[in-house]
Amino acid sequence: MADEARWWLIRPAQNLKPATYRCPLCGNHLPALSEHFLIAPEGDTSRRRHAHTACVKRARQAGRLPTRDEWARTQPRPPSALSRLRDRLFGGTE
Ligand SMILES: [Zn+2]
Repeated sequence: MADEARWWLIRPAQNLKPATYRCPLCGNHLPALSEHFLIAPEGDTSRRRHAHTACVKRARQAGRLPTRDEWARTQPRPPSALSRLRDRLFGGTE
């Protein structure tokens, strides 16, 4: 599966139409009528995939499939507009 996404939109899904999907995490078939998850790389629902509940849980336990919040916590914070203004007014790093 494509692992280039920095974070994933993950939400429970249960389809009413009797389609069969292929789980991107294990490669096995997934009947749409069963309870499962929809995962979308960086919230891009045009690339959403249907995945087994157990596969999503296993991947999350292994530290894969971070949510946006989990990913954001690992990112350095950009300086806020207020702190940039303070630096300019009171002598910052310039
Ligand atoms: Zn699976």
